[in-house]
Amino acid sequence: PVRTRFAPSPTGFLHIGGARTALFSWAYARRHGGQFILRIEDTDVARSTPEAVQAILDGMNWLELGWDEGPFYQMQRMDRYKQVIAQMLESGAAYYCYTTPAELDAMREAQRTRGEKPRYDGTWRPVAGKVLPAVPEGVQPVIRFKNPLDGVVAWDDLVKGRIEIANAEMDDLVIARADGTPTYNFCVVVDDWDMGITQVIRGDDHVNNTPRQINILKALGAEVPQYAHLSMILGDDGTKLSKRHGAVSVMQYDEDGYLKEAVINYLARLGWSHGDDEVFSREQFVEWFDLDHITPSAAQFNTEKLKWLNAHYIKATASDVLAADAKKRLAGRGVDVSAGPDLVAVIALYRDRVSTLVELADAVAPYYVEPTISEELAAQHLDASARGSLATLSARLQLATWDKAALSAAIKETCAELGVKMPQVAIPLRVKLLGVAQTPSIDAVLEVLGRERVLARLNA
Ligand code: GLU
Repeated sequence: PVRTRFAPSPTGFLHIGGARTALFSWAYARRHGGQFILRIEDTDVARSTPEAVQAILDGMNWLELGWDEGPFYQMQRMDRYKQVIAQMLESGAAYYCYTTPAELDAMREAQRTRGEKPRYDGTWRPVAGKVLPAVPEGVQPVIRFKNPLDGVVAWDDLVKGRIEIANAEMDDLVIARADGTPTYNFCVVVDDWDMGITQVIRGDDHVNNTPRQINILKALGAEVPQYAHLSMILGDDGTKLSKRHGAVSVMQYDEDGYLKEAVINYLARLGWSHGDDEVFSREQFVEWFDLDHITPSAAQFNTEKLKWLNAHYIKATASDVLAADAKKRLAGRGVDVSAGPDLVAVIALYRDRVSTLVELADAVAPYYVEPTISEELAAQHLDASARGSLATLSARLQLATWDKAALSAAIKETCAELGVKMPQVAIPLRVKLLGVAQTPSIDAVLEVLGRERVLARLNA
């Protein structure tokens, strides 16, 4: 059975890169009817916070990446790690090393001077026939893994292809510090083993850890999972995606008015492809997802494409759902929609013209609160002659029925009376009523905004 995991370190938000890793691990498990496990790697006590754990859970929940097991917390598994370390000491797969940090520094310094790669020299590594030094007094030992001395570690990475590293390149990894706490790579190994992980899908910043992890797994007699190392994500400008590129947390996308469906669709295409398909649902993605079509090269984030997808998903969302969202966003700005024009009707005018829910809220807000008209727009569109035209129009808006046909006729008659073209009335009208020079068709705007509001704003 397929078992994948997402193993974030809770040192910050769930960012775009993490979310993509989570999505691919989740989708792989779903695709194969397997299990998806959430594991919180919180052993870096100084940098891990409960707020970050919550932020990660919030991000996963928002994206609806449900996990079947967990969340497991590494800090709650310390006894288990220590138990495995004890077994490894017992079996000879690990050993105590009494080399002090000062001695290690000196060792590395000497190696560097000789032009060698700095590495632990194996002083305390037990070898048949070798007499170990006398255990020094007062030194708390670390515990090291007895890495094989020769041969290669190799795996067929599901993204990067075959990778081989000579064991001679690796020294004996510290698996427990002098204070007894297990180290990062070791915890990952025990967890992947205990949790029966079959495919490790993670960022390629971990690719250097993999040979060490494989060696330890083998020493434990554990089955080695398959590995898929995802290439990093670059920002719009081609540099490594970071805070400078704007949104840090996936939740920021929620706040910025992106639909989760759009974010999921977008992330799915970040480094994975299915022919020329760009727009597909989560269900379709799960059905199509495979590791063969992940590109080994870096994926570049493209905000314009995300916006384009978002506009598509907004168009596909029911107006009342969009209205509920807009209502919440407007309430957050202190704008109450209950006394104004029917929100669903206003939304219907704009839903096909925006690429985020924030743009949608911005567009509908002036239907509920009088807009402030910028000096620039006023200077451009509300000079004395434009104001005169609006007064003429206002007189013609004493209509028996307030509907599009009547409104359209009134505007046309005004234009004829003044001998001007349509935009010469319609643009000042838009600016005066909504504070913007562009809107959907003006008769529809007038109809939805309503007689009372239109006349009040025109005559203000
Ligand atoms: N905790 C690691 C991270 O946040 C992931 C480790 C792994 O997936 O093996 O980058």
